[in-house]
Amino acid sequence: MSEPTTESLNFIEEIVEDWMGKNPGEHIITRFPPEPNGYLHIGHASSICLNFGLTNKYGGYTNLRFDDTNPTTEETEYVESIKNDIKWLGFDWKNEYYASDYFNNLYEFAKILIQKGLAYVDDSSSETIAQLKGTPTKPGENSPFRERAIAENLDLFERMKLGEFPDGTRVLRAKIDMSNPNMIMRDPILYRIKKAHHHRTGDDWCIYPMYDFAHGQSDSIEKITHSICTMEFIPHRELYDWCIENLEIFPSKQYEFARRNLNYTITSKRKLLQLVNEGHVSGWDDPRMPTISGMRRRGYTAAAIRNFCDKIGIAKRDNIVDMALLEFCVREDLNKSTDRLMAVLDPIKVVITNYPEGKTEQLAIENNPEDENSGSRAIPFSNTLYIESEDFMEEAPKKYFRLTLGGYVRLKGAYIIKCDEIVKKSDGSIDYLKCSYAENSKSGQDTSGIAVKGTIHWVSVPHAVQAEVRLYDRLLSVPDPSEFPEQDFKDFINPNSLVTLKNVPVEPAMANIQPGTVVQFMRKGYFCCDLDTKDGQLVFNRTATLKGDMPKF
Ligand code: ATP
Ligand code: MG
Repeated sequence: MSEPTTESLNFIEEIVEDWMGKNPGEHIITRFPPEPNGYLHIGHASSICLNFGLTNKYGGYTNLRFDDTNPTTEETEYVESIKNDIKWLGFDWKNEYYASDYFNNLYEFAKILIQKGLAYVDDSSSETIAQLKGTPTKPGENSPFRERAIAENLDLFERMKLGEFPDGTRVLRAKIDMSNPNMIMRDPILYRIKKAHHHRTGDDWCIYPMYDFAHGQSDSIEKITHSICTMEFIPHRELYDWCIENLEIFPSKQYEFARRNLNYTITSKRKLLQLVNEGHVSGWDDPRMPTISGMRRRGYTAAAIRNFCDKIGIAKRDNIVDMALLEFCVREDLNKSTDRLMAVLDPIKVVITNYPEGKTEQLAIENNPEDENSGSRAIPFSNTLYIESEDFMEEAPKKYFRLTLGGYVRLKGAYIIKCDEIVKKSDGSIDYLKCSYAENSKSGQDTSGIAVKGTIHWVSVPHAVQAEVRLYDRLLSVPDPSEFPEQDFKDFINPNSLVTLKNVPVEPAMANIQPGTVVQFMRKGYFCCDLDTKDGQLVFNRTATLKGDMPKF
């Protein structure tokens, strides 16, 4: 545990330091409570960094608690992915718990409320319950079942548990106040009948607690001191406190911070599930997805994501964060750590007429100029090369410093070449370029005296390895689809969010790259070797371009 810092604290840190002042010798306990109904996304990363970050900073610990009270949407696959993602992000939980572990405790808590005259079984239909609820400006009305005797409530509640009644025929409600200005306090439902199989408790239960009855009590059982959730739960706080007070259990407290949303993407599991189910993406880990698994597959690093969450900090008002900031953090991290290699995404061929045919030279090139320990490697050079077609122009404007007819350019780590002739196909397109090289212009030992302004990358044709390269762009073509309420968010899927290039020549050093490794393709961006790479068939995902707009935040 480190000493409280003097740098400016966020408002949750202020709350924690205040609590520590009042509770000397005690430690804080937080929890991260995902519902296992989908994969974690960048919004969850923000919550994870906050909850784990607090206990990393102030001591104490963080539990991972699966909020699995909704049997129909939850799956073990999601549980596993969530654990994997949190670990990958670099955090460790103290205990792995499940709200479903507390189904017995919660059932007993419900009986305590019934015995105190604070809960009742309501036979009304859900429509009637909704009707009697009132509106924010109109008080609700009491249910005809509200004054049921305690014994009858206990009996009915037990029979609900025993499975005597069909789904939806009865609920258990708290008896609070049907005219409370906070609609959530108008006799909220605590339990519902749902004869559904649960991913952990199987068919043991046919009644399930509602979020509001499960969450606070689970916090209290775990003695969570700071239960941090997002702003939409502010109206629920009153009920959270009411349950804990009336059950006379450990006084966990709820604090809220603003949801973090990112532009040009979606941060809702429900909507991300639609993209997966309807085949708009290849799965939860499609590199376009803002899921932690998608970002990992794309090549984003855990450090970049943590740094991003740190930079945006926490707020009290919902807002949309600029995706450019996340991309900035990704570039910043990858720039330090990645080796620079050469790949030609859109090749044209160059033949160096004065370089001996069949000769191969191994040229040494630094792996990563940002890291002096990264070493160097050899790249083969021959008389036939690929260069990027955009690096050649027959007639070029003044400030074009790449190859032109009759002009010079340096080949990265190799020689200066001059284009002597364009050999065209019958349709007028370029077949290849006839060039000549200056033998005394080798990088590092250049005595040629030729002044060149541009350096371009290249790959030797006979040594090239072929790769599939997937160019990913932002998932949505508009920053915020909610600005178009008439339209479905899926109408805004960027049609160019994936462009696949086949048979891209890359330098042979890439042949043995491991899936998950990110490299820089010189001048082209950061690329991550994809999981689909097998049997020597290389696949790369574009993680990020090299440059982007300066982010605002
Ligand atoms: P979704 O709508 O995507 O399902 P959720 O809030 O229902 O999100 P949970 O699994 O219930 O997802 O969330 C686990 C934790 O992550 C909660 O504490 C929740 O408040 C937090 N969280 C979820 N989305 C965001 C977000 N966009 N920004 C910050 N925190 C978030
Ligand atoms: Mg949820």
